[in-house]
Formats: sequence, C-alpha cells, structure tokens
Amino acid sequence: MVHNISLPPGEFGGPWIDDLFMGTLDPQAHPYFRKIAGLEVSAHYVIRRDGSLIQYVPTDKRAWHAGVSSWKGCERCNDFSIGVELEGADDVPFAEPQYETLARLARGLQARYGKLDLAGHSDIAPGRKTDPGPWFDWARFRASVT
Ligand SMILES: [Zn+2]
Repeated sequence: MVHNISLPPGEFGGPWIDDLFMGTLDPQAHPYFRKIAGLEVSAHYVIRRDGSLIQYVPTDKRAWHAGVSSWKGCERCNDFSIGVELEGADDVPFAEPQYETLARLARGLQARYGKLDLAGHSDIAPGRKTDPGPWFDWARFRASVT
C-alpha cells in the first residue's frame, strides 16, 4: 500500500518522519506535531526524496499505517498489507529516485510473497485519505513492477 507523508506537511528532509515512526516525535517541535505525537502509527517502509529506503517494521509483522480501511471486501488492511510511505505530498510530484526504489522494493516483495495487489491509501480509505495523491504515477509504478 502506497502512502505519502511529509512532516511538517509540505516540508521534506527533516528528521520528523523518522521520529514519528520511532515514537519519539517531540510535540513541542511544531504546532502540527501536537496533533499527531502519541498516535500509534508506523509503516513498514519509508522512501525518502533521494530514494533511500528505511525499514521500520518487518514485513511479517503488522504496521499501523492503514487505519479504518477496506480492500476487496476485507476490513482492517493493517492485518494483511505492507505499508510504504513515500516522503511527499498530494500537491507535488514524487522524485525520480523514489519510483526506482519503490519498483525495486515491490519486485523484491513479489519475489518473496508472490503477486501483490498494488493500492494506495486513498483506495482503501476513500473519503478519509487522499494519499498518495494525484501526482503518483500509477501506470509507471505498475509497469515497473510487472
Ligand atoms: Zn496514508
């Protein structure tokens, strides 16, 4: 499952995403952080703007990235999905190296798990979530994985 995240929203490159997923986000560091610090959230992977890949949760363990969600009639997508957060926002293009890393990651996961459904957070939580957003190039991603 593909997401985007930036902390604070719209800013890239800071340590905050790492802090959030490590559970160490300082609620005082930015007004927005007060709303999200302490939330139980995580993702299996983050792909930074430069394409670097960071893993937070083993793929055979559950990460808390989906929230209230449904995919093909199954609820609670955290129970059966792998969450990948691209450092990005709904209103800006993703960086070239991010597609390359994401393709490599997805191919590796498919080699391990077999063919995977590729979906976005907005697909499993429509009306509630908009990421990865209109800039994410699904056609390119799908073509790079198959
Ligand atoms: Zn998301």
